[in-house]
Amino acid sequence: MEKVSGKSIVQGIAIGKILCYQKAQQSVKRIKIEDTDAEIKRYEAAKETAIKQLNELYKKAVKEVGEMNAAVFEVHAMMIEDGDYVESIQNIINSEQVNAEYAVATTGDNFATMFSEMEDDYFKARAADVKDISERLIDILSGNENKAGAGSTEPFIIIADDLAPSETVQMDKEKLLAFVTRFGSSNSHTAILARTMNIPAVIGVDIKEEWDGKLAVVDGYSGTLYIEPDEDILNQMKKRQEEDIQSRELLQQLKGKEDVTLDGKHIKLYANIAGVKDVASVLANDAAGIGLFRSEFLYLESEDYPSEETQFQAYKTVAQNMAGKKVIIRTLDIGADKQIDYFNMEHEDNPAMGYRAIRICLDRVDIFKTQLRALLRASAFGNIAIMYPMIISVDEVRKIKEIVEEVKAELDENGIKYGDVEQGVMIETPASVMISDMLAEEVDFFSIGTNDLTQYTLAIDRQNMRLDNIYDSHHPAVLRMIKMTVENGHKHGCWVGICGELGADSTLTQTFIEMGIDELSVSPSYVLPIRKKIRESKAGCAD
Ligand code: PEP
Ligand code: MG
Repeated sequence: MEKVSGKSIVQGIAIGKILCYQKAQQSVKRIKIEDTDAEIKRYEAAKETAIKQLNELYKKAVKEVGEMNAAVFEVHAMMIEDGDYVESIQNIINSEQVNAEYAVATTGDNFATMFSEMEDDYFKARAADVKDISERLIDILSGNENKAGAGSTEPFIIIADDLAPSETVQMDKEKLLAFVTRFGSSNSHTAILARTMNIPAVIGVDIKEEWDGKLAVVDGYSGTLYIEPDEDILNQMKKRQEEDIQSRELLQQLKGKEDVTLDGKHIKLYANIAGVKDVASVLANDAAGIGLFRSEFLYLESEDYPSEETQFQAYKTVAQNMAGKKVIIRTLDIGADKQIDYFNMEHEDNPAMGYRAIRICLDRVDIFKTQLRALLRASAFGNIAIMYPMIISVDEVRKIKEIVEEVKAELDENGIKYGDVEQGVMIETPASVMISDMLAEEVDFFSIGTNDLTQYTLAIDRQNMRLDNIYDSHHPAVLRMIKMTVENGHKHGCWVGICGELGADSTLTQTFIEMGIDELSVSPSYVLPIRKKIRESKAGCAD
């Protein structure tokens, strides 16, 4: 048995086989080939395998995310057979007498460059597709497939150096038991996703590739990983798992109970989601609404800008499934650690302070309007509210409101219905806290994003593993900012919630309630534990 320690990110126990996640190999070797006919046959066999995989993926995606979102796999299957693409690969193998991997990589690079230099946005976006199909072919040719568990039939524990949010969302969540990474931080979006999925996660582990396929135990309570655990550890951990199940069952008794303090103050207890699939767990955990739908994950899961229709279907499905309960959807918040190829964003030295979130939306208004149209149309099917991220000025909010009015006018002209949506802003920059009295005059609600608010207040990159031990959301500066936001919000007619990870910190529930917080939005699995805390707290005043 081998025992290694790291830092716990999400508690819980997982027992299963390790799957070592490897990023796509960037470098492909150029190898001289004598028998080019045999090499072309090898390439053709890989092409057939790729087409089969894509057809399977298409069928799976139709079931899981609908035809529209699945279409990308159909497009990829077509592109892989495209005459020019195939001819280029065959020509390179024949004329340069080189291996198929090299010919595919060279063709892929050439075609991607050609597409990215085109004027038309549609063709520009095809550059990412051509890279994707080429990587698939290279993986098959070099026997590197299924490294993310795509074809795995057994549940697995992923070990990786690091995981980007875009990689995490593409994993087969049904089979994912736990994450163990060498790098990462407690407040990265990958950690947040692990919390939303409610799977144990440990970072800072000196992982080894040789563990691939071995049985392991992840103890998310102590941040320990056991490889080939002995009988004793296995039994201890199975016992702990059973205790977890029992305490979860105890919490089930809180389902259907009110989120009210001992002295009668009602708190809105909502849940955070990253996509349509998470709604099941929101309902299973009996949240009173959705306080943060991170809509950028719709973009991260796509190969291209999601259309108005695709977005409309997603928002509408969530609103309908929540059956009249509040659904707060945050507009696109990309940038920093959430990078998307097809946005073609320039490299920035300091992306957390760069071109991100609302700054992109106010610059690329076409993208923003598409999302707003989808949101407003979906609002006719439920209780949708819209929330804007990374606000730093009243001017921004006024501009946003003007754009929203333009979109509403367009919908009116076309006789398209929409609901009466509440609009709110995230309070996640110190600037927005300091002008929260002014911002409150403009909007209906505030939702405090403690993850970024901590980052920007303490000047500590939330992604930086080295600083994880001093990234302190309990810092008095952060707590004072929360208090100030609640006071200013209330004075100027706004209700105030917290949707950052701190909202789920049960050691602060009493403090937040005393501050007068109206709403807490937490990962679905934290809803019942926080309900328990709320019901044991005192506000000092009733509703
Ligand atoms: C936050 O910053 O607290 C927040 C909720 O937004 P995100 O974590 O997605 O940046
Ligand atoms: Mg944020």
